[in-house]
Amino acid sequence: MNNDVLSNNTVNHIKTEHIEYLQFRKLQKYNNIISHGYSVGIDKNFRTFRSNREPLSNNEYENSMNNYKQFCKQIGADYKNIIKANQAHTDNVVSIDEINTNNTIDTKILSDGLITNKRGIVLATTNADCILLLFFDPVKKIIANTHSGWKGTIQEISIKTVEKMINIYGCNPKDIIVCICPSIRKCHFEVGEDVKEMFYKQFKKLGNTDEFIFNRHEKWYVDTVYINKMLLKGMGILEDNIEDSGICSVCNSNIIHSYRVEGKDYGLATALIGLR
Ligand SMILES: [Zn+2]
Repeated sequence: MNNDVLSNNTVNHIKTEHIEYLQFRKLQKYNNIISHGYSVGIDKNFRTFRSNREPLSNNEYENSMNNYKQFCKQIGADYKNIIKANQAHTDNVVSIDEINTNNTIDTKILSDGLITNKRGIVLATTNADCILLLFFDPVKKIIANTHSGWKGTIQEISIKTVEKMINIYGCNPKDIIVCICPSIRKCHFEVGEDVKEMFYKQFKKLGNTDEFIFNRHEKWYVDTVYINKMLLKGMGILEDNIEDSGICSVCNSNIIHSYRVEGKDYGLATALIGLR
């Protein structure tokens, strides 16, 4: 396992014969309690979770499952225990322990955040530019995995995840580590006037909006990572416990899936976190 191009102070880029992925250095310290990873690479077959499009052919499905098997094997998780919600840009965060579900990949839970305290379960989200957040409370041993695209960010799903960790599992926000996977960043997240206005209205409460809404060459850009960090800090998450990969999916679209770059035939990356 060699370090590679995307490695930085926060993440470690691991390349193996079959699969490439990132791990957060801070979470690697808890490898005895959790498994985790964020898939990178440009394999278009790595897309089992495209729930809203035509089903995969048998061949594609098999390739995709093989990728998941390899990925899980590398991080020491059981791919048969992956639970993936049906992401729909909602602010719905579901505790796996509250619902009855088979541990299947295509579970049709309409939600964009999953939480569990169950050992063996692996929580999955996917992205191609959206923000994915991995949560871990090493004291209470609770994990969560949340998809916060721009719509989820406006609905403050990151706050709703923390609230649920506190209310259901008694987590102390000071203990919770939050990892921000690669996503589109302020360098590339250009929005129209209407979306800019939505962000302005929702987040002027955060103070100086010039910190996260910019005009460059007469185009609007929003820093959704900054907004999520502010929301998390507002919930009592410590700055030191917010681990930002700092990686832009558009700037690195040769190796990370990006909807803005790939267009309608985009692939998806997967973020996994599981309790051992
Ligand atoms: Zn960029």
